[in-house]
Amino acid sequence: MNTNPQNPSAAVTPVLRVAVPTPLPRLFDYLPPTRGEAKALPGARVRVPFGRRSVTGVVVETAATSELPRERLKPASALLDPDGLLPADTLELLRWAADYYQHPVGEVMATALPVLLRQGEAPEVPGVESWSLTDEGRATDPATLARAPRQQQLFALLKQQTRGLTADEIGAELDSWRPAAKALVDKGLADRRLRDCLLAATDSPTPAPDLNEHQAAAADAICAALGGFTPLLVEGVTGSGKTEVYLAAIDAALATGQQVLVLVPEIGLTPQLLARFRARFAVPIAVMHSGLNDRERLCAWNMARTGRAPIVIGTRSAVFTPLPRLGLIVVDEEHDASFKQQDGFRYHARDLALVRARNVGIPVVLGSATPSLESLANAERGLYTRLHLPSRAGTARPPRVRLLDLRAQQLDEGLSPALLQAVGQTLAVGEQVLLFLNRRGYAPTLLCHECGWVADCQRCDAHMTYHARGQRLRCHHCGAERAVNRQCPDCGSTDLRTLGQGTERLEAALRRHFPDTGIVRIDRDTTRRKHAMAEKLAGVHSGEHQLLIGTQMLAKGHDFPGVTLVGLIDIDQGLFSADFRGAERMAQLIVQVAGRAGRGEKPGEVIIQTHHPDHPLLLTLLEGGYRAFATQALAERRAAGLPPHGHLALFRAEAPGPEAPASFLQAVRDHLGSTGEVSVLGPIPAPMEKRAGRYRAQLLLMARERRPLHAMLRAVMPTLAELPEARRVRWSLDVDPQEMF
Ligand code: ADP
Ligand code: ZN
Ligand code: ZN
Repeated sequence: MNTNPQNPSAAVTPVLRVAVPTPLPRLFDYLPPTRGEAKALPGARVRVPFGRRSVTGVVVETAATSELPRERLKPASALLDPDGLLPADTLELLRWAADYYQHPVGEVMATALPVLLRQGEAPEVPGVESWSLTDEGRATDPATLARAPRQQQLFALLKQQTRGLTADEIGAELDSWRPAAKALVDKGLADRRLRDCLLAATDSPTPAPDLNEHQAAAADAICAALGGFTPLLVEGVTGSGKTEVYLAAIDAALATGQQVLVLVPEIGLTPQLLARFRARFAVPIAVMHSGLNDRERLCAWNMARTGRAPIVIGTRSAVFTPLPRLGLIVVDEEHDASFKQQDGFRYHARDLALVRARNVGIPVVLGSATPSLESLANAERGLYTRLHLPSRAGTARPPRVRLLDLRAQQLDEGLSPALLQAVGQTLAVGEQVLLFLNRRGYAPTLLCHECGWVADCQRCDAHMTYHARGQRLRCHHCGAERAVNRQCPDCGSTDLRTLGQGTERLEAALRRHFPDTGIVRIDRDTTRRKHAMAEKLAGVHSGEHQLLIGTQMLAKGHDFPGVTLVGLIDIDQGLFSADFRGAERMAQLIVQVAGRAGRGEKPGEVIIQTHHPDHPLLLTLLEGGYRAFATQALAERRAAGLPPHGHLALFRAEAPGPEAPASFLQAVRDHLGSTGEVSVLGPIPAPMEKRAGRYRAQLLLMARERRPLHAMLRAVMPTLAELPEARRVRWSLDVDPQEMF
């Protein structure tokens, strides 16, 4: 579309309807800029005056007229993308999401754009800055740098990598390395250049293994679906070779020149997974995750947008990446909670992947060993094609699972004699052990043995966790931190004791029992440094570590062929969750953790320690597996009218005092009115009412059908911000909430 600056008459000049980054839930009208021509206006960015500021917005559509008289419309000050930026299908997805989640369209657009684009930069990135050794550098003996240790360290680092290392990659390994880099460049040993941000294609792709009969059937079904909208649910037990099925289908899509989008959970994006993709395909791969810096992210995004990256692998927000030739979407571990954004624009990437696939007319593959009840219900209703991989691929057999009754047992830091014995036997024959405990730190409680005082967080309704390293108390809910008390503040006693186990304490106990064993702990505390996780995983694969201790970070997607024993130290807390999804999450976690055992040639064993060996969830899982659990859980959800047999929306409000959230939500409730089709529950205090110094309350909407729920939300949302009570709280709406706190 051409704007005609010479003839700004009303008849030919369109009105630009622009999404502006503001919480106001509507588009704003502008006239086209007086200079510059546009090939494609919808999807292009414009700079526009907004209040007293100048902001970057996205043209969502053009219109012949505005509700405002033309003379009151301001012209945009500049057109930033004369050739367009977001394609029509991306705009369509974003507009759909803004409506569905009832989130301001300007903020939705902003979420979908890399930061640098929001700041008005050009999408083309020449590359990301990187350092590598020159030929002279490669021929140089590092010993010549002995008097400059930093240079020597950097030199050693660069020597391992022919592609060059980015500032981020070097920074993850070395502090204050820039002077050393400059010195190496000045000496002619290294140079600085721009490296593209794609994972380079391999020259010699490894051939695919022969798929077993179930894998082949699943892959064939996906390939046959290419070219039209079909959702497919690949339900494969852990280690059944789901990834190989995706790879086969991706291969077929690539062969016809299409692009493929692969969505993975936050911590499912491991070097191991990327290595498998890289080894298989002779095409470059764009990777998008939260660890990228702004320039790397923009670079990857633009490679996808321009079609130069045939494969895009990313976490949640990658679902919005423009892909001109998109032919297939894969959502791996589709049950994973990290696909749902938990603040701001609270979208669900799996659900949006389905919407996107439908809009574009392509297949979408959802894969999991433990599918969400939502996806299972859709499959049962015949909306998804169900593909089943009932057995492990290759020669691996399913692990043997047993419950270990902890009642009346003598425990050593939470470890039963039987588990310790099994660990010892496994290590003795040179196999690896994984112990799972979903609680980091040393102990979740610090208690006065004299008077019963407990170290609480002053800002939350929660105990502080004791961390032995550094002798700190930390709140895992708000991040508050202080030194450990030497004395009880109530009675002055020095007899303060730690209660309960965290991974740090478990590690200490195991080091006592197995002093000669390589032990590695993988949790948020030990993997903060950028490449720490990758290094630790590499140590597991090389056999340097035989005993792995970890939180749920270890449960997801990893393939540890040497692990033959998995122990779940304490699952009891998870058995009695207040959240209606608690049982589902617990079942998924148990099955996923257990699935790390015996994925190689040797058979695996799983030991679940519990004080509740008769708990129905455990018995159902053990006897009938995840499917039996899911069938039962779905029946319960149906009876209660809960998702997927009902639909929820949750208003949350918080403020420094407890009254304001309640009175705001009461006002919302009054505004919602009543229909027989939507029940409104609350306002009630959140399960953890006080968090980070703020009081929180919620109002829950429940409906059997989606339509009346959304109609109600659409009707009231535009007016809620104007309620006088709204000024005293921070509030949000969560459509399809995954967490009820
Ligand atoms: P999942 O994604 O279901 O957990 P993977 O695709 O990671 O399973 O496969 C588990 C293991 O089995 C991997 O080591 C993989 O290389 C191997 N594998 C998968 N399919 C086959 C096959 N058809 N033949 C031999 N080995 C296979
Ligand atoms: Zn005391
Ligand atoms: Zn706190």
